[in-house]
Amino acid sequence: MRFETPAENTWCPGCGNFPLLVSARRAISELIEEGKIEQQNVVVISGIGCHGKITSYLELNSVHTAHGRVLPMALGTKLGNPNLRVIGFGGDGDTYDEGMAHFIHAARNNANFSFVVHDNKMFSLTTGQPTATTSRHKKTKSTPQGKPSSPINPLMLALAAGATFVGRGYSFHIDQSKELLKQAIMHDGFGFVDMIQPCVVYNDTRGFMNEHAYWMDPEPTTFREAVEKAREWDYNLEDDAKVPLGLFYRTKEPTFEENWPSLQPWYKLKRDVTGKELFKEFK
Ligand code: SF4
Repeated sequence: MRFETPAENTWCPGCGNFPLLVSARRAISELIEEGKIEQQNVVVISGIGCHGKITSYLELNSVHTAHGRVLPMALGTKLGNPNLRVIGFGGDGDTYDEGMAHFIHAARNNANFSFVVHDNKMFSLTTGQPTATTSRHKKTKSTPQGKPSSPINPLMLALAAGATFVGRGYSFHIDQSKELLKQAIMHDGFGFVDMIQPCVVYNDTRGFMNEHAYWMDPEPTTFREAVEKAREWDYNLEDDAKVPLGLFYRTKEPTFEENWPSLQPWYKLKRDVTGKELFKEFK
């Protein structure tokens, strides 16, 4: 398998992160073979949570960053060198709880990189506490009587914030998810995919997804249709739920750096002060 590393994989057997890793490897590998991206320009960035180990398992330029901070790290990396193809990986707690403000502003500003949320609807690394996408009434270690609040719908949030690419996949559907990832990676702007990724230990949604998920055909073509489809599932696990998967919305808008032409990549900046002179001040 391409991009394998010597790191020991510590995900639990059967974890939904495994097929997501396979989809990501295949998507990046195929894009390189098709001549659309170059391996030396790919940077993968992950946050904190079980998902965060994905950067240890991909033999690519990578950063494993702090809680909820994948998006600012990805934005800074892309602004520092716009030639890079930046791919962010976040968790649902990492993104929709700890880093929520970053998510809204990345979508609103059309930050120019792709972003995949491993959405297992649970804080799993900390052994099972609810996140913003955990279903209502779900009993967890910190909500023994059931989670009292309704989950957020990340797709609706992204659409409302102005995201230019909004998709949802299911990690165990490797081929379709790989195709969705390829489109997100190649999108000019914020390529957001919420990837439902069952945690087989603390929130095993495989049975629910197998019964209720379907890939949209045809996919929505307007914003209105995208909203209608995104509203079809409220992230609860109800008996009559239908979970559409695929590309909900894609449009073309200027990217963050196109809207800020005064921004210069770091290596093009002409500095008056050298590092040596700067440090003299602190001696
Ligand atoms: Fe995967 Fe859950 Fe195990 Fe984390 S705790 S590695 S999400 S199965």
